[in-house]
Amino acid sequence: MKDVKVLFVSSEIEPYAKTGGLADVSSALPKALAAGGVNIKSVMPLYSSVNREKFGLKKIMDSACVHMGNCEEWYSVYHTDKPYGTDVYFIEFNKYFDRNGIYHDASGEFADNPFRFSFFCRAAMQTAKDMGFQPDVIHCNDWQTAFIPYYLKCGEDGYFWGTRSVLTIHNIGYQGNFDAGALEYAKIYLADFNAGAFESFGRLNVLKGGIAFADKITTVSPTYAGEIMGPIGSGGLHDILRARKNDLSGIINGIDTDVWNPQKDNLIEARYSVKNYAAGKKANKKKLQKMFDLSDSPNVPLFGFVGRFAAQKGLGLLSGAIERAVNSMVCQVVILGSGDEDAQWYFGGLPAKYPGTVGAYIGYDETRSHMIEAGSDFFLMPSLYEPCGLNQMYSQVYGTLPVVRATGGLDDTVEQYDEATGAGTGFKFYDISPGALYDTMGWAVSTYFDRERHMDLMIKRAMEKDFSWKKPAESYMELYRTLHY
Ligand code: ADP
Repeated sequence: MKDVKVLFVSSEIEPYAKTGGLADVSSALPKALAAGGVNIKSVMPLYSSVNREKFGLKKIMDSACVHMGNCEEWYSVYHTDKPYGTDVYFIEFNKYFDRNGIYHDASGEFADNPFRFSFFCRAAMQTAKDMGFQPDVIHCNDWQTAFIPYYLKCGEDGYFWGTRSVLTIHNIGYQGNFDAGALEYAKIYLADFNAGAFESFGRLNVLKGGIAFADKITTVSPTYAGEIMGPIGSGGLHDILRARKNDLSGIINGIDTDVWNPQKDNLIEARYSVKNYAAGKKANKKKLQKMFDLSDSPNVPLFGFVGRFAAQKGLGLLSGAIERAVNSMVCQVVILGSGDEDAQWYFGGLPAKYPGTVGAYIGYDETRSHMIEAGSDFFLMPSLYEPCGLNQMYSQVYGTLPVVRATGGLDDTVEQYDEATGAGTGFKFYDISPGALYDTMGWAVSTYFDRERHMDLMIKRAMEKDFSWKKPAESYMELYRTLHY
């Protein structure tokens, strides 16, 4: 793959800026591709929240310019030599990126998001050109970068005539739906504002336009690729996705095994491997119980949850099942999350209602998230839909058995427990109902107490699963190869 040049464009890259799994993928996938020999450079916006000093960002280009609508937008480009994964370039443009929040602030989504991200797409392409980096493929991620396939197909700039696009859909729930006021600025011709491209019910739908014009479309698990071609899972985009089905594939995400590895994790209390997991998990559980003011009970099964407080994550199922579970079973629950305000009030209030049994931390906290993966016995992920999901993979390599709804990547990455043989790596349920989650928590609790040998088999099997980026990166390379001619 040495000869393939890829420009990877993303609105968030860990550790610089992160709101969810997109940032993890945008950090780890380029790293794995580079290890596989791909010549790859990444570009992201320089939000004011990015710590320039810590990451050693240096300005490498001043007074760069792109034309948007009728105006010229002048911006700068930053770069860091510090080796956090791959080569990342940052677009500094204060009008759009010097503010609190990445996509929204406390008062809601930024109204100028289509302006911000169409500019970012143009600037990312221009940066490649200004650096003399002529990519074979521009790998785009989600709606924020879905203008690029269109810009390439418009063919305005001969520099990119040989460049193809891959658009990865990380979550079809976020499509970039706006009124049509940004069309001129974003340089979308009126002829392309139609139902087969950027238009949806009279509004601009950026992801839809990206799907129409991308050379290849991927999403982050095979099951999710099937789900988004059906009317329930597609958020209205099933027709256009079905029309592109020969170019659509599902490639499961990997996890960054440098960061999520119980043998080297510095954020947890005790490091462990599959060989000594019992002692390691015991020490981490003790610490986790202390962190969350739970009673120090080594033999009480502990369920963990980490995630955005968004309806997608099955919060309605959680709220309906957790209280029933702690009232009727011997178990403890810890919750880490932030987002929806009602959910913050509800989950944040549970520890006062169930002192010593339910713990909660409202906010974003890396250390607590690693501790929950390491110290819990089971990990809850009752998502209504889940394109891939990372936490269920993290939890398996930490020997924490996931309890998941069988959807999208959760279905692809968790093997159902078989009570007859002890096979499997977790517990899956199908119905979207609190009762189904409650029953499955009960199944996990009974397995914990009654089938210790099966627990041991499953924990070992889960910890030994290969969720690294090696195989997914190979699949992406294969895809790039089909475009590189
Ligand atoms: P999504 O991208 O839909 O948010 P994923 O499971 O793919 O879901 O990825 C979520 C990522 O964000 C994981 O790395 C998870 O640990 C992290 N995360 C989510 N909420 C929090 C939180 N409150 N504190 C720490 N990490 C969090």
